[in-house]
Amino acid sequence: MTTDTDTDTDTDTDTDTDTDIAMADPTAVLHCRDVHKSYRQGSEQVAVLTGVNLTVAAGEKLAIVGASGSGKSTLLNMLGGLDDPSAGEVWIQGAAVAPMSESDRARWRNQHLGFVYQFHHLLPEFSALENVAMPLLIGRVTPAVAQERARLLLMDVGLAARTSHKPAALSGGERQRVAIARALAMEPGCVLMDEPTGNLDPATAQTVLELLLKLNEESGISFVIVTHDRQIAARMDRVVSLRDGRLYHVGGAP
Ligand code: ADP
Ligand code: MG
Repeated sequence: MTTDTDTDTDTDTDTDTDTDIAMADPTAVLHCRDVHKSYRQGSEQVAVLTGVNLTVAAGEKLAIVGASGSGKSTLLNMLGGLDDPSAGEVWIQGAAVAPMSESDRARWRNQHLGFVYQFHHLLPEFSALENVAMPLLIGRVTPAVAQERARLLLMDVGLAARTSHKPAALSGGERQRVAIARALAMEPGCVLMDEPTGNLDPATAQTVLELLLKLNEESGISFVIVTHDRQIAARMDRVVSLRDGRLYHVGGAP
């Protein structure tokens, strides 16, 4: 566990997301400080993130909005420990990501985070039940317990009757609900979602949103959701916008 004792020397404007208070909170599920990320494009370095500060509190629902190409997925990958920032630091559930080995990092992610993407990324050759059980098996839960838990999770997302279906035999909304059940399997503190309803029709997106809100209510799980959907953003506790490589507070609790 890394303790964060530095004082903030940031000279941000008032509208920039300020994390001073929350930085002192060791219960934060996610925290990043002064994260920069640039990619090499030919001979040029393209700066995508240029100083992102963010803290996600336990139980908080946060929406990240921003134009296409503004770096939302890049930021989510940093927050999820899937990619390394060019500079700056990321903590997941109180632990600094940078010093961790690849295997420690994978284990930490498995225990503390769930991921949902625009395209479900379910394994096509496995049933809904097997897909949901996968993180549990990776987390060394016994197969019998994993199966039972996966069954309950699928029931929670309204798919009790679809446990043996493979992804190809499910509708888009059903696949996304399986992906959500899978993300929740290890009871993570936070689920990171990258446009989870981006591939769904509005009515199905609404159903998925209601499901997420119900799960948050029941389990106190945090959500970081990248979305273009204003309705979804409006239902989160807080909305931040990524612009010119930085985050700006645009709605909800400051
Ligand atoms: P968003 O999710 O907001 O649409 P992304 O995070 O996917 O934006 O991308 C932000 C910028 O970073 C884009 O200009 C994109 O081309 C660039 N980018 C993203 N990933 C890579 C990569 N692996 N290599 C090079 N450039 C990348
Ligand atoms: Mg994206």
